[in-house]
Amino acid sequence: MICLGIEGTAHTIAASVVDSKNQILSDIRAMYTTEKTGIIPKDAAKFMEEKKNLIIENSLEEANLTFDDVDVIAFSQGPGLAPSLLVTLNLAKSLALKYKKPLVGINHIAAHLNSGFLFCNIKDPVYVFVSGANTQIIVLESKKYRILGETLSIGLGNALDKFGRIASLGFPAGSKIEELAKKGSYIKLPYSVKGMDVDFSGIVTEAIRKLNQGERLENLCFSLQETCFSMLTEVTERALAHTEKKEIIVIGGVAANKRFSEMLSTMCKERSAKFYICPIKYAGDQATMIAYLGLKIFKTKKLTPLEKIDILPRWRADEIDVNWKN
Ligand code: AMP
Ligand code: MG
Repeated sequence: MICLGIEGTAHTIAASVVDSKNQILSDIRAMYTTEKTGIIPKDAAKFMEEKKNLIIENSLEEANLTFDDVDVIAFSQGPGLAPSLLVTLNLAKSLALKYKKPLVGINHIAAHLNSGFLFCNIKDPVYVFVSGANTQIIVLESKKYRILGETLSIGLGNALDKFGRIASLGFPAGSKIEELAKKGSYIKLPYSVKGMDVDFSGIVTEAIRKLNQGERLENLCFSLQETCFSMLTEVTERALAHTEKKEIIVIGGVAANKRFSEMLSTMCKERSAKFYICPIKYAGDQATMIAYLGLKIFKTKKLTPLEKIDILPRWRADEIDVNWKN
């Protein structure tokens, strides 16, 4: 069985072909970036609109297949930015209608979490999901994702990007902040853990205030990382203790950060828990995860009729029934 997956929830438009032996037959992506500003939703959608046809074409070409070989199309239905989601929905629906293929709408977060089974040897982890827009500590219990802790304001990636925008680092800023942090030292920023939840917005505001007062950018990058990453490490450790799970996996674009994985892996070592990190190439947005989960959901035979499929910009992971087999 062959699935064509299409991703497009925010900044990346991507297409990937995966077969039921979990072979990745193609993986094509294009990511919207900017030099100085943050992400502009309207521009990201325009970028995706311009690239979408070529992305689909290239992904079939790389897989050496045509639409005749495709059994099912899966696409990212939400959560995400509405303008981007609309481009993806229209693309996926038009392909499904034109080539008479079943269509599966995928929750983007579930796809990220599930990709852990494709790339790492996980069994039943605490998921540390740290992307641009989302920051959540999640476990799977009784066929539901339970969000044990999450950000009360913006996601960790967006927090770094917001600071980066003010500091003229462009979008995305995470990796630039990581580089600058290597030459910085610690200055105090507010540490904001509330129960199992975290809050990054006040920290970013304070970092921006200090930047405007002339504090060294390198010091702010270092301190921003140390503060935000420590907060999440604290909450993840508590999630491990409460659930008695024995492994964690870090997923999402911020998983690329070496300092963050260092902190988490040290904590795991101290608790004799296994530490997994989604391979950097697949930690952020891509369509392989959409195709992979698309196949699993297709096999459940519980599909929504095409005319009822719409974008779901605020679709939370805890609203999903996990009735597919891992
Ligand atoms: P995603 O939304 O999962 O595609 O992840 C994108 C986010 O990951 C953006 O906010 C980036 O700034 C962030 N990111 C990417 N690389 C790094 C890094 N090395 N350190 C911190 N954040 C990063
Ligand atoms: Mg994502």
